[in-house]
Amino acid sequence: MSTDNAGAGESGTMPRQPQPPAGGFTAEDIGRYDHVTRLPSRVQCLERLAADLDAIARGDVPRTLVLVTLAEAQHFNRILRALGHGFSEDFIRAGAERIIECLDAEVTVYNVSVLSFAFVVRDGGTQPPERIARAIAGHFTNAVMVQDIPIQSTVGIGLVPLDAGFTAPAEALRAALTAAQDSRSSHHPFAYYNPGSDAAQRRAFRLLTDLPEALEGDDQFTLHFQPRITFADHLSHSVEALIRWQHPTLGWISPAEFIPLVEATALIRPLTALVLETAIRQLGQWQDTGRELGISVNVSPRNLTEPEFLGRLHGWLERYGVDPRRLELEFTEGAVSPDNTRTMDTLQRVRAMGMTVAIDDFGSGYSNMAYLTRIPADVVKIDKSLVLDLETGEQAHFLVRKINNLAHGLGFSVVAEGIETAKAYDFLDGIGCDQGQGFHMARPMPSEQLDSWLGQ
Ligand code: C2E
Ligand code: MG
Ligand code: MG
Repeated sequence: MSTDNAGAGESGTMPRQPQPPAGGFTAEDIGRYDHVTRLPSRVQCLERLAADLDAIARGDVPRTLVLVTLAEAQHFNRILRALGHGFSEDFIRAGAERIIECLDAEVTVYNVSVLSFAFVVRDGGTQPPERIARAIAGHFTNAVMVQDIPIQSTVGIGLVPLDAGFTAPAEALRAALTAAQDSRSSHHPFAYYNPGSDAAQRRAFRLLTDLPEALEGDDQFTLHFQPRITFADHLSHSVEALIRWQHPTLGWISPAEFIPLVEATALIRPLTALVLETAIRQLGQWQDTGRELGISVNVSPRNLTEPEFLGRLHGWLERYGVDPRRLELEFTEGAVSPDNTRTMDTLQRVRAMGMTVAIDDFGSGYSNMAYLTRIPADVVKIDKSLVLDLETGEQAHFLVRKINNLAHGLGFSVVAEGIETAKAYDFLDGIGCDQGQGFHMARPMPSEQLDSWLGQ
């Protein structure tokens, strides 16, 4: 094994690996070799996998595809930004060399994407796949030296047994990448391909690809409303709007599943717009029938940086003739940073327009009381996990009481979420909490049902 040296030898070529022709790349070689590591590329890896799958199908020894990702994309981008392209390329070459050092001479390593390397090993051979994976992970626990700078990188390693019924080489490679991601997220040195977690990814992909059409139509999304009860008079003066998705083939999809996916994409814009406009229209209808009810809508931090966010809000309030004081915007604690001046500015303007702002799920993350002093908001919603714990733990009583008192001291109104029992209701009422929401009083329901619920 060589020492932690930058690059891959004097000539910049990988030891013991197939190399592009000596005279340089020809037109035919373009795409067949990686230009940074000069290792065979994904194109050649797929050809190799096709041959292997074919051989295995004919009864030849089973093999395992191994894929190593060198670093998390975010980490690599930080290296790139701080130290530049040349350095980053040296890092990739040094990483590739580390992998090769752990392998028998006849194993070919393919550079399948910028940060990923793949190879195939025979099961039951001199180097079992798991042992190789452990060796590679272990080898990377030492920092990689690049131009005399130690770079710590955590590899993700995915293993795919090639007898698992794969017919398409690209499928096997994709499965290996999924497994490498699993290894990274589980902090294990390596992970086998798990069709279960892959199915979850496919479902996530499916939901996101189906979403634009669902947003276009008017039958898949509806709003349900969950009453908030004021402890002082035991009545409901406002409700929270909660989106519901009835997918034409997958059935009912929980917002807890699709909202986090949508929030990672630009689709959160039209989705929040749909919810806001629907909620404001509903407010208008209630106002017309003399019903004095407010609505609280969940918004994403991304929404608060949309340039036309406030303009559109204003437009809908005007169009449906709604008093802005009836509308509240909720965003999750921690999702909004007080250092983001643009977002803080939007929240301030929202309040200046007459709406209120609520900090949702307070106490679910690494809550910081100082956070409350820096966010322009009116309401703190105590997370349901803490409220549910009131059933069992003394600590929860202590925490909920403390949060309630502190939030009151800072001028917030306090709402407790997730009240499932009379015991929790009475405790919260007793400590002077302002409002409560939970299955004990009412579940989220469609507007028609809400009408009769309120009538009772
Ligand atoms: P959230 O804003 O904290 O909403 C409260 C959630 O707690 C709702 O789940 C509600 O049904 C549930 N809940 C209410 N009372 C109880 C109770 O007593 N016990 C328990 N165990 N749960 C209770 P839901 O409707 O599934 O929504 C989940 C999350 O999805 C919401 O949490 C919110 O973060 C997000 N979400 C829902 N609708 C929207 C939306 O229109 N826009 C955005 N951006 N997010 C939404
Ligand atoms: Mg909420
Ligand atoms: Mg909440």
